[in-house]
Amino acid sequence: MDKKLHIVGGGMAGSEAAWQAANMGVEVVIHEMRPEVETFAHQTGKLGEMVCSNSFRSDDDEQNAVGLLHWEMRAANGLIMAMADRCRLPAGGALAVDREDFSDCVTKALADHPNVTVEPGEIRELPEDGHWIIATGPLTSSSLGAAIQAETGAERLAFFDAIAPIVYAESIDMNVAWLQSRYDKGETEEEQKAYLNCPMTKDQYEAFIDALLAADKTEFHESETAGYFDGCLPIEVMAERGRETLRHGPMKPVGLTNSHKPEEKAYAVVQLRRDNALGTLYNIVGFQTKMKYGAQTDVFRMIPGLENASFARLGGIHRNTFLNSPTLLDNQMRLKSKPNIRFAGQVTGVEGYVESAAMGLLAGRLAAAEILGTTLETAPQDSAMGALIHHITGGAEAKTFQPMNVNFGLFRPVDGLKGGRRGRKDRYKAYTDRAKVAFCQWLEGQTH
Ligand SMILES: Cc1cc2nc3c(=O)[nH]c(=O)nc-3n(C[C@H](O)[C@H](O)[C@H](O)COP(=O)(O)OP(=O)(O)OC[C@H]3O[C@@H](n4cnc5c(N)ncnc54)[C@H](O)[C@@H]3O)c2cc1C
Repeated sequence: MDKKLHIVGGGMAGSEAAWQAANMGVEVVIHEMRPEVETFAHQTGKLGEMVCSNSFRSDDDEQNAVGLLHWEMRAANGLIMAMADRCRLPAGGALAVDREDFSDCVTKALADHPNVTVEPGEIRELPEDGHWIIATGPLTSSSLGAAIQAETGAERLAFFDAIAPIVYAESIDMNVAWLQSRYDKGETEEEQKAYLNCPMTKDQYEAFIDALLAADKTEFHESETAGYFDGCLPIEVMAERGRETLRHGPMKPVGLTNSHKPEEKAYAVVQLRRDNALGTLYNIVGFQTKMKYGAQTDVFRMIPGLENASFARLGGIHRNTFLNSPTLLDNQMRLKSKPNIRFAGQVTGVEGYVESAAMGLLAGRLAAAEILGTTLETAPQDSAMGALIHHITGGAEAKTFQPMNVNFGLFRPVDGLKGGRRGRKDRYKAYTDRAKVAFCQWLEGQTH
């Protein structure tokens, strides 16, 4: 087989993957369709273009999972972090950059690398042979999207996300909420208690609907051609259709008995469903929304049992292209049905510049190792990079899979530490300490 590594897409993930593989001595060709084929969000033909915000979010590597991912990428000689540090602007604890300088620097670093060639042009088909990484992002061109769908099945490549807010399990008040599946459905006790239920009285429901209707919302970009379907309407749009609509939809109270107050019939019930194998995260079922983030926390904390909820991520609906990675990819990021092709970046179902670049870093190293005739284990689960890859290729619920950003809910608990808000600082420090050790061991294993 050809020893070159072909990377489709020179965004966050593709640029990082190219850098990593090239530094391992592999010849890399980046295929980038811009500027010849445009997207509605990109403005230039440069590599590593930031399509919206100029921030890589928190740079705190002790108390923040994104900051930890920065740390790991710096430890792995990551291009995106090195160029971000070079183009840094003052932004408090966040890592913000001059976006023009940043993409200029990424483009130049790759152009100057002796092992990297950039070949302009769109890739429209899935390649049959050779080593490939597809890192075409949320705005993957339509012809390649169609080719991927033809390979994976239409239902396993989505063109919009519909993200329900995700809550840390430990922040839910279990004196109010109870575990029960509707009509106790399921063969095992685990299935019969698969949902967490939060009851509402009539007054609480009416106040909740008022807040939903009044909340600030974000609009779709005009070129996003908002095509969300009736099956995943934002909750506020459902509420606009009639004050009772939610009570007959995702908030219907039927088939449920409040174990704390069996004699009281709830007027409406909000259900949460486990979102990961670890059981640390729960998503609010059917609550995809276009409310602004600030409004979301205010409105969702009106739900009884969620008054003190901590959110691992808030809800959203965006134009996005992403695979059902838990069913399609192995933990080496290879497409199971065509293992000569890896996927990286946002198209794998992670979300954000940092997460996408991190998945590029990993895919670049895994692919280069394979070309060089060795096998590299994927990043360790206790690291931030490893927690993400384990989530998208294993831990996440495949049936309800939606894009995920890095957060401490993806980490295995550290034994013996206090739960809840009070213990948070110590817990996060323990996660980040453990992650750094695991990540460094993984890196050291690659130098021998
Ligand atoms: C409108 C919008 C706003 C966003 N805002 C933010 C934000 O503020 N912060 C944040 O963290 N994330 C944001 N995101 C998510 C963001 O796009 C990703 O975090 C990040 O850019 C993903 O990196 P990537 O490398 O996977 O994809 P990209 O950076 O998009 O790179 C993919 C590359 O592939 C190229 N490409 C696509 N199809 C083909 C093809 N067939 N052949 C060749 N090349 C191809 C594209 O031109 C592009 O250069 C936003 C996304 C969108 C759509």
